[in-house]
Order: sequence, then structure tokens, then C-alpha cells
Amino acid sequence: MPVVGVIGGGQLARMMHPAAIALGVELRVFSEESDSPAKSATTEIGDYLDFDRLKDFCQGLDALTFDHEHVPTALLERLEELGVKVRPGSRALIHAQNKLVMRERLTELGLPMPHWASVTSAADLESFISDFGPEIIVKTPIGGYDGKGVRVVESVDQVSDWLENIAQFGGVLLAEEKVEFIAEVAQLSARNPSGEFRAWPLVQTIQEHSVCSVVICPAPKEFDSIQAEEIARIVSQSLSVIGVLAVEMFVAKDGRLLINELAMRPHNSGHFSIEGSLTSQFEQHLRSVLDLPLGETHSLAPHAVMVNLLGVNQTNNFVDHYPSAMKEFPEVKFHSYQKTPRLGRKMGHLTVLGENASEIQRLGLAAREVLYRAE
Ligand code: ADP
Repeated sequence: MPVVGVIGGGQLARMMHPAAIALGVELRVFSEESDSPAKSATTEIGDYLDFDRLKDFCQGLDALTFDHEHVPTALLERLEELGVKVRPGSRALIHAQNKLVMRERLTELGLPMPHWASVTSAADLESFISDFGPEIIVKTPIGGYDGKGVRVVESVDQVSDWLENIAQFGGVLLAEEKVEFIAEVAQLSARNPSGEFRAWPLVQTIQEHSVCSVVICPAPKEFDSIQAEEIARIVSQSLSVIGVLAVEMFVAKDGRLLINELAMRPHNSGHFSIEGSLTSQFEQHLRSVLDLPLGETHSLAPHAVMVNLLGVNQTNNFVDHYPSAMKEFPEVKFHSYQKTPRLGRKMGHLTVLGENASEIQRLGLAAREVLYRAE
């Protein structure tokens, strides 16, 4: 039986488990807490910064992969030197961990992106604002997620705290032109070590307060899905990505796609694929990291909508109220991550498939509303 190890016990590791069971793969999870969303898999508890514990965890694995992108590449390089099949490898993963490294590499590849610059001082930032302002975006190159580490800025003093503590971010910040986008999209794909590549349809992602709220598959026809797939193919091949790759992009007013960021693991924009695609992103990720042939990715319905369930308070875990929502919305599929409720936390998601995109979106949002309001 092939064995895949996953670092991190969040919802992504959790959702890999049913796919692993179906494929006859043993999934071992290295988690920081015993009560993790992925606790149904074989779980070891430890700190991913503790190299000796990591090394022990890797004994007997056919591949090591990730639920999150926080493991420093220096540790992964040491594992690779010991012969561990780290997938994606450290040299690819750095582009998902460090936005500046990503911008530099994708610029070399000639891929479309917002104007950007690395800034190390207030003077650098002043000059970027005068070139691309009045409003620009400043990001910390490492450690940001769900909009933490991203600020809209008009003057240097709005990031004076970051500039004062710049050493913490590797001595540099990333400045970007503020794109006036008409939509955000994500292109999900997967590649295995043999070089096989497959992509899902381009999806539209709708964020609220910088957190993904709704995903619509496929994205509206007027968005350039052919270019999106080509971008994913180039990134995946050039960076030797193994496993699922999500390329998040802006659709600019003139229709051009501009790359925002990369994720090299199953991604929130691909949860629709559990019910919506012949091969889900979780199954495909396992196939990829084990160098198995990849599955077909075509959609099982004309449209799919995924709606995130984000915590509304510290008591509503949603799952207690699933039965009443299920009664009212039998066409909706329910997923829980078994997390303790907290405001804004990703607690689960809903998926609806159907012929009519706006109708299934209405159903998904109405089912969410029932859960959000439940006491
Ligand atoms: P995170 O890593 O926290 O997800 P992102 O880089 O994806 O951060 O940024 C979060 C959100 O901020 C994006 O989804 C987008 O809405 C907005 N954003 C990021 N960069 C830009 C940009 N250059 N122009 C306009 N909006 C941006």
C-alpha cells in the first residue's frame, strides 16, 4: 500500500483522506494538534520546525506533501538530501511561500503580472507611489494568508510598522500596482513527476474581506480560459511543480489576466471538484505526488458553485444545523471541517451542481443563510 505523508492537519489534509481511502493509499498526517480536522487519518502530533521529528515522520513514506505552505524550505532541502520525496519539492515550493521570489521568476518567464517592485526603504516606496499611485498595494513577501500581509496604501506612513520591522520579512517588502480588476479567477491544474499535466476549467472566485467566499465553475465565458490554462502549464512545467497548482489571477478591465499568486497544494478554489469533476483535486494531488497517471478533470454538470461557511461567532458550528438546512435544500452537498467555531474561520463549505449558474448560486447562498442565522 503506498503511503503519503501530509504536513499539517487542516481541512485540506482532511479532504485528502476519503480520496486516499478510495485509491488504497495510506494517509499519515503530521499535525500540531491532536484535535485537528484531519484526525480521522493516522495522525502524529509534532512541531514541523523540529527537524528530528519530521525526519522520523518521513520514515517509510512514498511521498511527503503539504496541507499548508509554512515549512521552511531549508528543512525540506535537508529531507530531500536524505532521499525523502518531497512533493512539490523545495525549489518549486519557494515560489508559493515567497511572493517576491515568485514575482522575480514569473517576470523572467515573461508571464503577465501587475507592475511590481521590491522595496527596502521609505524612499523606494515613495518612488513606487509616485509612479503607480495614488493607491498601491504593499505585501509582506512571506507569511501572509487570507489578506493578512496585504495593505492598500497611499502614503509611506501606512506601512511604517512594516518598514521598521523589515528584518522580520527578510529585509524587503513587495510593492504592487493596485489592479482595477473586474473579477478574480483561479486556474487549478496538476502535474506529476513524469510530466503529465491536467487542468480543470477556469473558475471565478469571489472574496469577502480578502477571504474566498464563493467559487463559480466554470468562470464566465468571456474570460480567457485558454490563456489561463497556458499560464498554468508554463508555471507548472517551468517551476517543476508536482501536485496541484492553483494560479490566482485578476481579470483586468481590458480582459488581460494578471497573476496574483500561486498555491502548490489543493486549494479552496478547487473544492467544487469533489462533486463537480470526474477527478477531484484531492484525488489528483495524491495521484500526482505518487507519480500515478492523472485522472480526467471534466465537469459532471454544466455548472458548479461552492460556498464557504465562515464562522459567524464562537458557538455556531453549523454542523448541528445541517439537518434543517438539508431538509430545505436536498440538492446541496454539505462539508464540515469539524473546527471549533470562531468569527471568520473556514468551518466548512457547500457545493451545488446544476444547469443554471445563477439558480445554483442562489440555492447555495440561501442554504448558507439558514446556517448563518441558526442559533
Ligand atoms: P493572501 O496571500 O493573503 O491571500 P493576496 O496576495 O491573494 O493575499 O491578496 C489578497 C487580496 O487582496 C486579493 O484577493 C485581492 O482582492 C487583493 N489584492 C492583492 N494584490 C492586489 C493588487 N496588486 N491589486 C489589487 N488588489 C490586490
